[in-house]
Amino acid sequence: MNKEEFINKVGDLGINLTDTQLNQLNEYCRYLLEYNTHTNLTAIKEEKQVYLKHFYDSLTFIKAIDPTKYETLLDIGTGAGFPGMVLKIVFPNLEVTLLDSNNKKINFLKELTMKLGLTKVNFFHGRAEDFCKKNREKFDLVTARAVSNMTVLTELCLPLVRVDGYFIAMKGSNIDEIIESKVAITKLGGNLENIIDFTLPQEESRRNIAKIKKEKLTPKEYPRRYEKIVKSPLK
Ligand code: SAH
Repeated sequence: MNKEEFINKVGDLGINLTDTQLNQLNEYCRYLLEYNTHTNLTAIKEEKQVYLKHFYDSLTFIKAIDPTKYETLLDIGTGAGFPGMVLKIVFPNLEVTLLDSNNKKINFLKELTMKLGLTKVNFFHGRAEDFCKKNREKFDLVTARAVSNMTVLTELCLPLVRVDGYFIAMKGSNIDEIIESKVAITKLGGNLENIIDFTLPQEESRRNIAKIKKEKLTPKEYPRRYEKIVKSPLK
């Protein structure tokens, strides 16, 4: 997806990008690819692929929810900033927290934030389960893309969402995995409101976005230790 196609497709999502935002994305792409030559951040090595599979794909978040109506967003397992950093650039009203257990990725994101002159961006190097100890039910929106199985992911993410906030899970083609996580969602205080199913333009790969509303406080025993979460998934 070249930049012109990106602008058009993002326009179809209802987003009009300013010159500042386009310049910031341009610099993001340049710096990502440069940094990636010495530090492994992403398997994607071409500009057009970054615009399609990282930038455009991150912005499909808005098919599920309007970020301008919320103040805080947490991205769990953000990697090189997807979708959290892209959402920060396009919706600068959001205070975004980027979390990853890989410090190389967090360092890249800190440097990028300085380069782009962004404010209201927080970082956490560590595991989602540990972050939860001091940040329970704190965020309006929590998201994650390509991090883990939906049932595991729900236990990592939903405790961090405030009541009436949303967990937006950006998943691939496997809709059954989302359906199977319904028990976990309910136990953790959530309600699966909607699954938005679409294909990415050009290469036509399938995506599902699960929109989960936090309706009740999560019982205190969750999240459990990571080994427990993985060994005995909620069902
Ligand atoms: N969201 C990004 C990165 C996906 S790769 C994207 O879509 O491109 C998965 C990332 O999740 C990795 O960077 C890994 O370090 C991180 N991760 C996996 N489990 C985690 C956990 N429990 N806590 C924090 N980070 C985690």
